[in-house]
Amino acid sequence: MNPLIVCVLDMDETLGTYDRQTFHVRPKIQTLINLLRYIKSDIILWSLGRDEYVQRIVSHSLPDICKYATKIFGHTQCNRAYERYNYYKASEHIRIMYDCDIFLMGVDDKVSQNMDSQYDLRIQIQPYKQPNPNDKAILEVCEKIINSLMKAQDLRHEPLPVSEPSDDYVENVWVY
Ligand SMILES: [Mg+2]
Repeated sequence: MNPLIVCVLDMDETLGTYDRQTFHVRPKIQTLINLLRYIKSDIILWSLGRDEYVQRIVSHSLPDICKYATKIFGHTQCNRAYERYNYYKASEHIRIMYDCDIFLMGVDDKVSQNMDSQYDLRIQIQPYKQPNPNDKAILEVCEKIINSLMKAQDLRHEPLPVSEPSDDYVENVWVY
């Protein structure tokens, strides 16, 4: 059975940028959400921002995250993960929430600082620091997700190696 796909998304400078009381959403976020919904991925928004700030931005500026995310984590969960696993967005903090095999993906503008190497796929995205209608980084993220999932699926469906006849194979011996 294929594992459940789970995608952890960072917020600030990944999904948009906050500037003087306005959160500017990055172009093509809708495409990423559509892709994640299409592949039936669980969406977890995980930000280092203060919990109430994260809730406020998500409910005002990221309606689809608000609607489809299974969890919205802020600084409190970052601290818990850091205390236990030494990473603010530790993979194990997510894996223990599931009682099944998961394919864990993470998208962050500071991926190596925040996410450990036990993610199945970590995508470093260029930080989005100011509104730019021509930004295409989310489309590149979508491409990486599709290619990695196809590769993982191909590996799962590779035929098992055929066992070679071993050296201790004994021919039938006919006794007359
Ligand atoms: Mg960030």
